[in-house]
Amino acid sequence: MSLQTLTINKQRLEQRINQLAEIGKIGETGVCRLTLSKEDRQGVEKVKGWMEEAGLTARIDHFGNLIGRLEGENPEASILMLGSHIDSQPYGGRFDGVIGVLGALEAVQTMKENDIAPKMPIEVVAFSDEEGCRFNKGLFGVRGILGKLEEGELERTDKDGITRRQALIEFGCDPDKLKESEYPEGSIASFLEMHIEQGPVLEKNNLPVGIVTGISGPLWLTVELEGFAGHAGSVPMPMRQDALVGAAKVIIALNELASEDLDAPTVGTVGSLKIFPDSRNIIPEKVTFTVDLRDIDIDRRHRIEERLRTRISEITEQHDLTYKISEDTNSEPRYCSEDIMNVMREESRKIGLETIELMSGPFHDSLAMSYVCDYGMIFVRCQDGISHNPKEYSTFEDISLGAELLYRTAVRMAEEK
Ligand SMILES: [Zn+2]
Repeated sequence: MSLQTLTINKQRLEQRINQLAEIGKIGETGVCRLTLSKEDRQGVEKVKGWMEEAGLTARIDHFGNLIGRLEGENPEASILMLGSHIDSQPYGGRFDGVIGVLGALEAVQTMKENDIAPKMPIEVVAFSDEEGCRFNKGLFGVRGILGKLEEGELERTDKDGITRRQALIEFGCDPDKLKESEYPEGSIASFLEMHIEQGPVLEKNNLPVGIVTGISGPLWLTVELEGFAGHAGSVPMPMRQDALVGAAKVIIALNELASEDLDAPTVGTVGSLKIFPDSRNIIPEKVTFTVDLRDIDIDRRHRIEERLRTRISEITEQHDLTYKISEDTNSEPRYCSEDIMNVMREESRKIGLETIELMSGPFHDSLAMSYVCDYGMIFVRCQDGISHNPKEYSTFEDISLGAELLYRTAVRMAEEK
């Protein structure tokens, strides 16, 4: 499709993204809008103004979520919700989350301008604290409205010792009234989120937009290998119990297992490793390292994990090491709704927008929503796959094409149900 035939207003969307990037701006292109901060509040107020300008009824709830609502023919019907987040990492970019909120607003405003009357209410949401960097736990706002906060979350502190409770109060929320901001079960029918890919797949395929098939849940393991320390200058090679050599072989084994089927989206990473005693002339006695294994296909992930465990057992036996594996996180992948993906496939075909289908490695607000309703996600290409960095960049052409697909998907869903 050509940019001239867009239904959404590319210029308006671009202007809003640029204006929001001015709030909490760092350097030329970066953004620091930590959740529940002064800058976050300014951002929320800005977007709230645009929601009202678009004819939505906007409110800030007690979790700090911003919610704009367009009434439907049947106000009692379950809601079609669209959105993402506008809080950022301390050294973040202009597009992460933002394009999902402003793209959603653009979609709904376009709907209104085209006199499309949705059957059900539509809500555009900027969720509070998706990033989780300030209080070390993310997806706060979205879990909040779904009644899924955990014990003690309000008592978590940031690096200055401010509790989330305090930060909520300073933001203008009342943490004693959180219950009032929860959504009753069944009140949300579906959720749509557009987000930058934060990875290189679309760029590699030279495509602006992708349809997400699901969010892969990570398996996080900690592996400890133990051997025996000795002098690097004297212990003969056959007598060594070198834990680092064992770890090196396990790392390679993981890499090979995850790369076996290059058409599959499996990824495996050892991102952290500690060596004891960590001295140049001592044979390493103990090595502790992390494993991050992700796949959209849980059975395939289980099979790879099984084989990795076998390899660890073989390698440690070969090097006369003992081992311990502990599991830190084991989330299942959450698949996007096949119905919503079909609408996206049809709508992109109609406008001649070539897409590919891909999984999401990172979490998004959609992950929490996936437990209560159908969800669909659109990815927009980002340069070099860079994100959580001021260098994060997507073109406004690509963002507009994503927003157009979001708009068309929302229209279909608003008319069909
Ligand atoms: Zn994000």
